[in-house]
Amino acid sequence: MKYILFFFFFVASTSSKAQSVKKLHRKATLVDTHNDVLSSGVLDGIDISNRTTEGHSDLVRWKEGGLDVQFFSVFTSEKARNKEGFFQDAVAEIDSLQRLVSRNPKSMILATHYSEVKKGIRQGKLVSLIGVEGGHMIEDDMGKLVQLRKMGMRYMTLTWNNSTTWASSAKDETENPASLKQKGLTDFGKGVVKMMNELGVIVDLSHTGEQTFYDAIATTTKPVILSHSSVWNICPVFRNVKDEQIKAVAKNGGVICINFYSGFISKEFDQRQGQLNGTFRDSMQQNLLQANNGDSSIMRTKWREYYRTEMEKVRPTLGQLVDHIDHIVKLVGDDYVGIGSDYDGVGSLPIGLEDVTTYPKITEELVSRGYSKKSIKKILGDNVLRVMKANFEK
Ligand SMILES: [Zn+2]
Repeated sequence: MKYILFFFFFVASTSSKAQSVKKLHRKATLVDTHNDVLSSGVLDGIDISNRTTEGHSDLVRWKEGGLDVQFFSVFTSEKARNKEGFFQDAVAEIDSLQRLVSRNPKSMILATHYSEVKKGIRQGKLVSLIGVEGGHMIEDDMGKLVQLRKMGMRYMTLTWNNSTTWASSAKDETENPASLKQKGLTDFGKGVVKMMNELGVIVDLSHTGEQTFYDAIATTTKPVILSHSSVWNICPVFRNVKDEQIKAVAKNGGVICINFYSGFISKEFDQRQGQLNGTFRDSMQQNLLQANNGDSSIMRTKWREYYRTEMEKVRPTLGQLVDHIDHIVKLVGDDYVGIGSDYDGVGSLPIGLEDVTTYPKITEELVSRGYSKKSIKKILGDNVLRVMKANFEK
């Protein structure tokens, strides 16, 4: 009898704990500052109004994951898709978001002002905002920065992996410094930051080199974000931020939004990937080719299978992702960290975080680590809302 009672209380307390996590997650405002579904799906004609089987995101799954606010990344790489160039790429992508929102007026709202963000949250709609990833999209033209703002842009990442003529990227500063005329922001670059402050466009410092990061922090009069970056101290890769940078963001009143990509969460994952993509790949592929009588299509299939199996072995856990949040909280407090998943922009995610329905697991993990409700609400969205308000209240 004693054991039956114990079992009963155990089950009852587990389910009430699950209920309270659910309630907390539902009540909190969940903000994700980075999702690439526009460039990876919507532009190709995939309609995410209904549940999709490909990719990480759609309106049905966002609802299940309890997401309230999504910054949609307007992204183009260093090679423009459109023959007219980067700016037209941005225009086409913004247009694709506007059409998605207009097809789904009951479940989405495109917000450009803070009051619209709050209204959309109250109405239970997915509040959608535009974040432009890569300063190359303004094509060295302040007028195009203003035009993108008029189209609804609310953050701009100063660089993607490619540097602009006015800002150096993390990739170039670390891997290809000889390609740079100068590190950091030029006078025009500082002018861009000042103009963004004036226009109410948040300065996003993900992807930027350290020198650009510090130049921008010294120039901006408003709090910044890092829309999708993780912690260098745990996973030392060029895209992650060092402790001194985290302290500088805290001093600025900004937020670092954790990127979920396995290669930015786990050092082991990144190292294994480096090994498999190095000279090992060439010799392994050569062996596979010989073993399969020179059939390159069988070789490629077998290589992909091998690669997938090997990388699966080092895929990080959800706990390893939450370690990044812990690190920032321990270093500077709970006001400067948020969520910037990079869903639909990455090829591997931690175990348990496979798509946008899984956000509640982060809440559950934070609860089990003893975080207070207030603290969890800040991490899930209130910190980013604070930065949004400071940049574009009006
Ligand atoms: Zn990115």
